[in-house]
Amino acid sequence: MKRKGLIVVISGFSGTGKGTLMKRLVKEYDNYALSVSATTRNPRPGEENGREYFFIKDDEFEKLIAEDGLIEHAGYCGHYYGTPRQFVEEKLDAGLDVILEIEIQGALQIKKKFPKAVLLFVMPPSAQVLEERLRGRGTESDEVIKGRLSTAVKESKGIEEYDYILVNDDLDECVKKMHEIISSAHFTPDRNEEFIAEIRQELKKFEQ
Ligand code: ADP
Ligand code: 5GP
Repeated sequence: MKRKGLIVVISGFSGTGKGTLMKRLVKEYDNYALSVSATTRNPRPGEENGREYFFIKDDEFEKLIAEDGLIEHAGYCGHYYGTPRQFVEEKLDAGLDVILEIEIQGALQIKKKFPKAVLLFVMPPSAQVLEERLRGRGTESDEVIKGRLSTAVKESKGIEEYDYILVNDDLDECVKKMHEIISSAHFTPDRNEEFIAEIRQELKKFEQ
């Protein structure tokens, strides 16, 4: 039975720790590929074009949409964000699970287009810890931080659309649980239709 890659969507409020978790996941397990999104926002200090994001201009982003080069895209806090199609398709074909760290509007587009995708929502242990992490990261102004916390209020209304929630309290434990959830998802009947059909076909010879 050839292992088929799954699309795994990871969402969560800004500052929850998604980026940190993703880096650990790909470092510790070799069955994951991390999708690099395109965005029209400016790079933060330390971010590199092609590593965290492909940083592009509005007109380039609109061209990608027109060419159907993105499997989903959304506007978030005044900027465009989207997932390039080619990388995802290549890695899935190679049997890797492709992680998309995206917000909820994009997650819902993925759920509709790829019903077998696994949707995870990462939660902070509390709202206070979320604010502390956002401030502690030190990469945004006070105004931007307030905007992101206010966006979290809206985002929290969509959590039930996801398949699983995960609490990022202890980082090691959260990375381990994330891997366990994704591993289990590979064994659901709807994600193994071909294998089930094959065994059914073989069983036919025993039919009386
Ligand atoms: P996101 O990608 O969700 O916006 P980041 O990965 O940038 O969040 O994390 C936000 C801040 O919280 C960073 O400074 C990071 O080091 C810190 N952080 C992430 N996970 C944990 C954790 N489990 N415990 C403590 N601090 C964490
Ligand atoms: P940030 O600016 O903090 O890097 O990301 C802001 C939000 O955009 C986060 O919630 C992140 O998950 C989301 N995001 C990043 N890339 C994409 C993408 O390709 N598509 C969508 N829909 N959201 C994305």
